[in-house]
Amino acid sequence: MSCPICGGETEQKFRPFCSRRCADIDLAKWLNGSYSVPSQREEDLEVEDDTQDFTPKRPH
Ligand SMILES: [Zn+2]
Repeated sequence: MSCPICGGETEQKFRPFCSRRCADIDLAKWLNGSYSVPSQREEDLEVEDDTQDFTPKRPH
């Protein structure tokens, strides 16, 4: 098995990475990904908007 970041030899201590540096890089990638994909929240907001549209606000 080789380091998924740089392709170097995996170090037992930092499996599956070769070094602390590569482990940190991978962690940063995960954090960035979770921060930049708040799609579920946006969907929730859209659903709320639809519900408001569906409810007739005019009392006739
Ligand atoms: Zn590496």
